[in-house]
Amino acid sequence: MAHNFLSELTGSFAMPAAENPTVAMIESAYRHHKLDWRYINCEVTPENLGAAVAGARAMNWAGFNCSLPHKVAVIQHLDGLGASAEIMGAVNCVVRRGTSYIGENTDGKGFLASLQEVTDPSGRSVVMFGAGGAARAVSVELALAGAKSVTVVNRDRARGQAVVDLLNQRTSTRAELVEWKGTYRVPEGVDIVINATSIGLFPDVDARLDLDAATLRPNMVVADIIPNPPRTRLVRDAEQRGCKVIDGLGMLVNQGVIGVKYWTGLDVDPTVMRKTIADLFGA
Ligand code: NDP
Repeated sequence: MAHNFLSELTGSFAMPAAENPTVAMIESAYRHHKLDWRYINCEVTPENLGAAVAGARAMNWAGFNCSLPHKVAVIQHLDGLGASAEIMGAVNCVVRRGTSYIGENTDGKGFLASLQEVTDPSGRSVVMFGAGGAARAVSVELALAGAKSVTVVNRDRARGQAVVDLLNQRTSTRAELVEWKGTYRVPEGVDIVINATSIGLFPDVDARLDLDAATLRPNMVVADIIPNPPRTRLVRDAEQRGCKVIDGLGMLVNQGVIGVKYWTGLDVDPTVMRKTIADLFGA
């Protein structure tokens, strides 16, 4: 398949390439499938974001990812938003559709794709730790996929309440806040437990959620969004308790697969991408 180089460029406004696992992961998929596409990394400062998006348009990029601190600020430079990105108010993936650049959020979609490999969240009760950007993305996608309820467990009350209000106001999922003070016990009847905090992220690999692991029951699905290391304390605790477990690598890989599909229209092999990233993380 031959493509004009400039019309088939995707990009990422993020950190330097040597430190960026997404670049390695997506380029490995392009290479594996012999796709004449490139995914490059551009470090863009906040004051240059508008100029960078204009540059992407001028070069007819198929799209790009953007990471913090650009996920909200980029919206003003785009022509529209996908349904979930509009609810979240955050964009991590921009897609050229015709002559328009549309903001999507593939973080939550990547998580959902991982979850759907083991269970359908429709009608399920969810406990989610965390209320930051990733938690917002994950919970909005769960709500749009028909989750019955989401209990947001978060230390900071205001941040937790903002996610609860968003879910209650913009989706049909019932959301409630539990302020995270002391050891949390997962109530009976919960189907899915998610760590959407940054607890356990390298280098704090031994950090544990303040959670009574004895309340994780074998019928529960336990998901951690921490990709590095993938085998977090929560993942290991939940495995020991006999739960079905999902690690954060799946979310990272799937958001890449979904992004490539948006840009190229092609389905790429997630196992190639997972291997690249697992090697990089030494997992
Ligand atoms: P934010 O900084 O926006 O939010 C962090 C959240 O973690 C907050 O809710 C914060 O609580 C909570 N938190 C952090 N430390 C503690 C602690 N010691 N005890 C209790 N709560 C804590 O981060 P993001 O939402 O952007 O990202 C969160 C994680 O998600 C990151 O580690 C990132 O690696 C991961 N991620 C994974 C992806 C993947 O593809 N697998 C994609 C995107 C993100 P509080 O509000 O009380 O401060």
